[in-house]
Amino acid sequence: MKRFALAGNPNCGKTSLFNLLTGSTAHVGNWPGVTVDKKEGTYKKLAEPIHIIDLPGIYSLSPYTPEEVISRNYILEEKPDCVINIVDATNLERNLYLTTQLLEIDVPLVVALNMMDVITKKGDKIDVAQIEKKLGVPVVSISALKGTGGDELMKRAFEASKAVRKGTTVLNNSSLAHLIGDVKIALEYENVENPLFHAVKLAENDELEVKDHVKASQMVEDFKKTFKDDTFGTDFEAIVADERYKYLSKEFKNVYIKNESNRENKPNKKQKNVNMTSMNMSKSDKIDRVLTHKIWGIPIFLVILFFIFHLTFSSNFLFLGAFIKDDWVSFAGTPFEGVFGEGAINSPGVVLQNLLTLLTDTLTQWVGNGLDSIKGCPEWVHGFICDGILSGLFAVLSFLPQILVLFLFFSILEDSGYMARVAFILDRAFRKFGLSGRAFMPMIMGFGCSVPAMINTRTLADDNERTATVRVIPYFSCGAKLPILTAVAGAIVANAKIGNADIITYSMYVLGMVVAVISILLMRNTTMKGEVPPFIMELPAYHAPQFKNLMLHLWDKAKHFIKKAFTIILASTIVIWFLSHFTWSWKFLADEEMDQSILASIGQLLQPIFTPLGFGSQLKQWGWVFGVAAIIGLIAKENVISCFGTLAACIGGFALTQDDTGITYVQAMIAATGITIPALISFIAFNMTTIPCFAAVATARAELSSKKKFNWTLLFWIATSYIVATTIYLIGSWWWTAFIFVAIIAIVITFIVINNKKEKARAYQ
Ligand code: GDP
Ligand code: MG
Repeated sequence: MKRFALAGNPNCGKTSLFNLLTGSTAHVGNWPGVTVDKKEGTYKKLAEPIHIIDLPGIYSLSPYTPEEVISRNYILEEKPDCVINIVDATNLERNLYLTTQLLEIDVPLVVALNMMDVITKKGDKIDVAQIEKKLGVPVVSISALKGTGGDELMKRAFEASKAVRKGTTVLNNSSLAHLIGDVKIALEYENVENPLFHAVKLAENDELEVKDHVKASQMVEDFKKTFKDDTFGTDFEAIVADERYKYLSKEFKNVYIKNESNRENKPNKKQKNVNMTSMNMSKSDKIDRVLTHKIWGIPIFLVILFFIFHLTFSSNFLFLGAFIKDDWVSFAGTPFEGVFGEGAINSPGVVLQNLLTLLTDTLTQWVGNGLDSIKGCPEWVHGFICDGILSGLFAVLSFLPQILVLFLFFSILEDSGYMARVAFILDRAFRKFGLSGRAFMPMIMGFGCSVPAMINTRTLADDNERTATVRVIPYFSCGAKLPILTAVAGAIVANAKIGNADIITYSMYVLGMVVAVISILLMRNTTMKGEVPPFIMELPAYHAPQFKNLMLHLWDKAKHFIKKAFTIILASTIVIWFLSHFTWSWKFLADEEMDQSILASIGQLLQPIFTPLGFGSQLKQWGWVFGVAAIIGLIAKENVISCFGTLAACIGGFALTQDDTGITYVQAMIAATGITIPALISFIAFNMTTIPCFAAVATARAELSSKKKFNWTLLFWIATSYIVATTIYLIGSWWWTAFIFVAIIAIVITFIVINNKKEKARAYQ
């Protein structure tokens, strides 16, 4: 099968094109560095199927970043049948810089001018024929977003792939042209493949090349002795780069035709008074002046985040409850009672959740009635289906609307280009403490799912930085942990009649991030030291989020969640129900007797471990449910709540008293254990910071460089969760213990600082 590779700058639309051609739904994100690994798919609309490879984004073919190495090696060594170079047409000259390097390789090349929809919308034009003539390779206009030009592009690429193409260079008029020519001849004599490309790279003193072609590199060294450029001296790399840019700005001056009339027709009276700097500033720059402000950048991010949580979880939307005296919409007596809020307005996320719960409750009732009407249906079948399977499954599924609402907002932040700014502001704040923005990008991706986020750490060159980052990624709470946060927050609000669910969930998310930053800083200053490589990232221009992208993200999320619900979670639910309804001697138990079950005996055995955390031996009869849920959560985090759902259908059912109106089974069960609020918060924190789900653990094992690092990572997760949860429980229960913790932290920091100073002093000796 023929193989075509997609190459181009970060954020130029490679993955969008890949998705368009192959019908996949790979992650498209408006920030550089989303695609780290190469992705593969098939294009089927030609006479024969074509294998398409989406390469990581690169600015050049030098070997400076892992992305560059992956893409360069793929093109040079795996020799695709055609390279499709995607060029962001709105940023033509800069993108063509890479094109001038790709031209030097002996491989069929086709240029795809992407983002043509933006150009057309502005009323600008691009002289495609002229670009084609100058570059000497086919050029096709496309819009990966709107889905235009893809088939034409593939047709041209298919044609091109049939012919042999010899590399060409734009450096023919440069002062190094002779040297390059001579080295090329020498390499050809040695039968080196891609002689032109290697000759240029050798002239540039590319480190990988010098190692591979010692003899030819001597020619370059000899030439250097006789040559000196006025501006760059003997920095040949700079000379070559300068030459490429000069060529581009000279030759491509006239290909971009701006829609002048458009501008002149709209004279702006105010503009006269505006000084030059702000006139040159684009809209994006202006927004960035605020959003990436030195001091306000991080607070603004936290406020935006709070707003998102408020819209998703609050049952007191915009805090309007204070102004609403009575029920603002009366559905009293109908099934819709309370769906839209009681004495306050529910946020969109909560309304959707309530509607779904209404549906699932009705469904459970129907099934229950149906089973009851069957004569001779054993009682345990009714319990198994309604309390076991349905309660467990629906306990988790009911969070789908809120997960989707939250991710809709996250996708908007990402697609608009804001998340890239967050990495930038965090980099600025934490760089001096050994933490770079490159590490923050995978961490922020962790909000979605830890698995791709851990894979994304491949962009980190320093192994210690990578290890430390993999460890803290799970602390950026993923979608699967959301049901835990929300359900427990709901229980706190319902049982203690305090607080707002949105504020609790938000605080827990922030807590996760704070624990991540603190622990990575500790590691980077103790066991995981290393260089902080410079963080060069081009901030993508802000743009309105694309509806198609948003829906794609949400659809992906929903599909994944539902699939998991009907496989892993359903299976675990069934196991839990059986373990909780039978004794070791396989005797069926009634709901009230569940504390004699197999599950209970295992739970009671584990219970003492959790005593310092507040949900151990100090709890009443049903206290073992917390430990059991946390352990089952290691398979998939949703299991914590499906387990609650299954158990609560029984325990909560009979624990409910007459005056507990408006309280769910899960909330009633939690109340029946006699757990305190600090212990509930500690329970959330424990689940957030302990060993993540099975899939994330397996990914960590695969991505970490050694077994030893992986083992320490497991230990790190256990220790951190234990410490964080205990701290929360103790301080929450007895406030004065805060002083003890502050003292311990002060001692640890002092110790690290002194130790680092000593080390430095030793290094200078
Ligand atoms: P990659 O980093 O090169 O893989 O780029 P992506 O495919 O992830 O796209 C980066 C951003 O550019 C996303 O926000 C896309 O929605 C957007 N984008 C991609 N192609 C087009 C296009 O043809 N037109 C417009 N307007 N936006 C596009
Ligand atoms: Mg990509």
